[in-house]
Amino acid sequence: MSVLDLRKLSKAFGGVRAVNEVDFAIRPGEFLAMIGPNGAGKSTCFNMINGQLPPDSGEILLEGKNIAGLAPREIWRRGVGRTFQVAATFGSMTVIENVQMALISHAGETYRLWKPAASLHRARALDLLGQVGMKDAADRPSRELAYGDVKRIELAIALANDPKLLLMDEPTAGMAPRERNDLIALVKRLVIERGISVLFTEHSMDVVFAYADRIIVLARGRVIADGNADAVRGNAKVQEVYFGTGKTFAAHGVSP
Ligand code: ADP
Ligand code: MG
Repeated sequence: MSVLDLRKLSKAFGGVRAVNEVDFAIRPGEFLAMIGPNGAGKSTCFNMINGQLPPDSGEILLEGKNIAGLAPREIWRRGVGRTFQVAATFGSMTVIENVQMALISHAGETYRLWKPAASLHRARALDLLGQVGMKDAADRPSRELAYGDVKRIELAIALANDPKLLLMDEPTAGMAPRERNDLIALVKRLVIERGISVLFTEHSMDVVFAYADRIIVLARGRVIADGNADAVRGNAKVQEVYFGTGKTFAAHGVSP
């Protein structure tokens, strides 16, 4: 069974059909990229899946159950994680405390328990920090972290919820090319090791073509291509959307 199955998912803002009858499925353990020009409807899709936006129509089946329109917290509880859920208090805590808080939240324990139990989930938190390559920074104040390291901690926090599906909308925004590549390579490794599914957006075609198992291309709210890197790169509709007719990814120096 698919982890997630979108059926004719639609959302309009006034007269703009931001997402228009989108259908696609995410398989278990799949590292799936969603690409498309600005305004294609990618974030609107993500925000319907995570519960931030109610769809106008269509279904979002999570392991067969329709979650369309449920509250974000309920969708999170059912195993759909996302990055960029860093709390307002992030900077005031150490790196490991942030991950411990996420583990406490996942276990359904109350914040009240936190203070007397500074050691709660410490071993598990250290393990998660190890998985994102940040173990050595465990006891540093989070506010001192470099931008790319904050992204790694966000990933550890998302993994603390043990998601089946992780949504990452522009996880590398604001990063240098090298850092982008490293973060996506790290996520891909975690996908393989943990068997989770990831849906992500990313502007760098080099990174998308190098790491994604499959690529969905959205344009004006519709899926115009769905396949592996070779199929998408060679797709005439995709080339037209990105470059105008008759040009190719290779001609723009963005082949992997
Ligand atoms: P992408 O993430 O692919 O750049 P978005 O999903 O953000 O695209 O936007 C898709 C379309 O929906 C765009 O035309 C955008 O202007 C419009 N849109 C997105 N969010 C809103 C909103 N909250 N209110 C009005 N229009 C919106
Ligand atoms: Mg967007």
